[in-house]
Amino acid sequence: MWIFFGIAGGLLFYFVLPNWKYRKKEILPSEKPVLTFDDGPTEVTEEVLDILKDYSIQGYFFVLGEKALQRPKLIRRMKEEGHIVGLHAYIHRHGALILPHVLWKDLRKGYEALMKLGIEPKFYRPTHGFYTAISCLFSRMHGMKNFHWHALMRDWEKNEEGVVAKRLGKASAPGRILVLHDGCEGSADPKAYQKMPEELRKYLKESSFFKKNLRRSGE
Ligand SMILES: [Zn+2]
Repeated sequence: MWIFFGIAGGLLFYFVLPNWKYRKKEILPSEKPVLTFDDGPTEVTEEVLDILKDYSIQGYFFVLGEKALQRPKLIRRMKEEGHIVGLHAYIHRHGALILPHVLWKDLRKGYEALMKLGIEPKFYRPTHGFYTAISCLFSRMHGMKNFHWHALMRDWEKNEEGVVAKRLGKASAPGRILVLHDGCEGSADPKAYQKMPEELRKYLKESSFFKKNLRRSGE
């Protein structure tokens, strides 16, 4: 009997309470939708940065430490161009499927990777948006704010052309946090993320929230 209460209490404290507290549809005080990108950086991130530059958008990138170390130039560019670089993990694993000390070690490795690249992350988004007592303790101890979302664009699935752009349009409202992926992790379709920049471009072209910068070339 006591064992049952012990296990139930442990699960409540480790999994249930953190997710109850942080998995909320938060609205930021912004006049525009907030675009966030998870699971990068990869070979498509450069194009994403070009697009954001074209529209003067500040993006939030929740990166993986392992990939960041492989593409330090992109992390530096994010910083130089005023984007927010947040911590996602070092390696993309579900927080419920690894032991607490493995999760802690992974987060520390991810955090140190970003520090090595000149980023002191202020925001944290767990893999799969799944919080645990350990990830919450880690983010708190390192002065990071847990950063959830309002809507997922399901861009990791195999989608018909234009579907993700339409979803972005539908979900857009001031301050809403929208999630896209500039990398492929877990059970994602292996090529889906490569189509994301084109969908983003399509959405921005139609969106009343964003205007493309005028170029001297008269484009
Ligand atoms: Zn992720």
